[in-house]
Amino acid sequence: MIMKKKMTLTNKILLGLLLGFIVGLILKQIPSGYMKDTLILGGIFKVLGTGFTSAIKMMVVPLVFISLICGSASMGDVKKLGRIGGKTMAFYLSTTALAIIISLILGNVLKPGIGLDMSHMVSGDVAIGESKSIVEIILNIIPSNPIQSLANGEMLQVIFFAMLIGIAINVVGEKAEPLKVLFESANEVCMKMVNIIMLFAPYGVFALVADTFATVGTDAVFALLKYVAVVLIGLLIHVCVVYGGAFKLFTKQNIKPFLKKFTQVAAVTFSTASSNASVPVSLEIMEELGVGKSTRSFTIPMGATINMDGTAIMQGVAALFIAQIYGIDLGMNDMMTIVLTATLASIGTAGVPGVGMIMLSMVLQSVGLPLEGIGLIMGVERIIDMFRTTVNVMGDNVCTLVVANSEKDLNLEAYNSVLDKKVA
Ligand code: ASP
Repeated sequence: MIMKKKMTLTNKILLGLLLGFIVGLILKQIPSGYMKDTLILGGIFKVLGTGFTSAIKMMVVPLVFISLICGSASMGDVKKLGRIGGKTMAFYLSTTALAIIISLILGNVLKPGIGLDMSHMVSGDVAIGESKSIVEIILNIIPSNPIQSLANGEMLQVIFFAMLIGIAINVVGEKAEPLKVLFESANEVCMKMVNIIMLFAPYGVFALVADTFATVGTDAVFALLKYVAVVLIGLLIHVCVVYGGAFKLFTKQNIKPFLKKFTQVAAVTFSTASSNASVPVSLEIMEELGVGKSTRSFTIPMGATINMDGTAIMQGVAALFIAQIYGIDLGMNDMMTIVLTATLASIGTAGVPGVGMIMLSMVLQSVGLPLEGIGLIMGVERIIDMFRTTVNVMGDNVCTLVVANSEKDLNLEAYNSVLDKKVA
């Protein structure tokens, strides 16, 4: 009897990714024309890729809003909320600072910008990122019109509003029970919607990756090989040493169940280059891995908004690369300034494609490096963005597991059983 083996969703998504890469590179070789530009890239791929991205983004605001209400309503006491908040911020800030330190060490040791003549690659306009004052940042978290915040997807404002509702539900108690039940039921429905949308992920991921490689190709990667390699090495070290180390040290668990589930998230971050777009999938896998609502509903959206370790690594390497290209010496003080501004810049980076590069201007300005330098690395921006976003989001997921474990909000049976399940 022939047994027909069903492919798991994760494997289908990985296959989509691989095929997307191959098809994209083939398309890049085909000259422009109606067939390639209008029918394939602008037609079929656009519908599949943008359609998938829109569908997953559609879930971000409702899911963050509803799950955070449920999470803080089920928290029990406000002290726990403060504890989770404190641990989360400590994890996010310290890992980001470590990320930049790793990138600065690599940039100084491997010197990606030494011996390169890039004068032909400097291009014109550069978008400039703006830094906000602390007062502005704090005030920006409190929405004057929450409906507007929801409509604009202002994540920190949505988080603030949702947490307040959750806390109030908790305090009101019995009388607010119907509202709590309503939100819990809405949460279930939202998670199911994410599940359904993810069934289309293999096609969406395929189209998005094919479109990227058909458009940007890999030529620029070869021209900037040293820069790309140093960023990728930095990302890899950060993942293995900082995330791997923190996970082992704080949870003492086997990392395999997490890695198995994370593949789905990685496919989304890699193809969309957006932390925000990954929120629904991260919430889904965290639930499957046994993380409780009260932790995951806070740490995941918070991380997608402020935790950008991959972006910080890119910014550190890019700053040194540009300094080396222009022959500018940076001293110890400059390095410290880079650590500080890149931490702030990565916190201020929105979880959408390309913003990390705009915020890089803040870092360059802080140590007097020429902003035109950004033009040098623009050619590989999208490809680097795919990788750094994946690291950004991995940080949010690892933090969630670490905090959940320390709060006894991680169901270890559910976590370990992930490895036994055939269907992922
Ligand atoms: N694309 C990144 C993210 O969404 C942000 C960036 O570095 O541009 O996490």
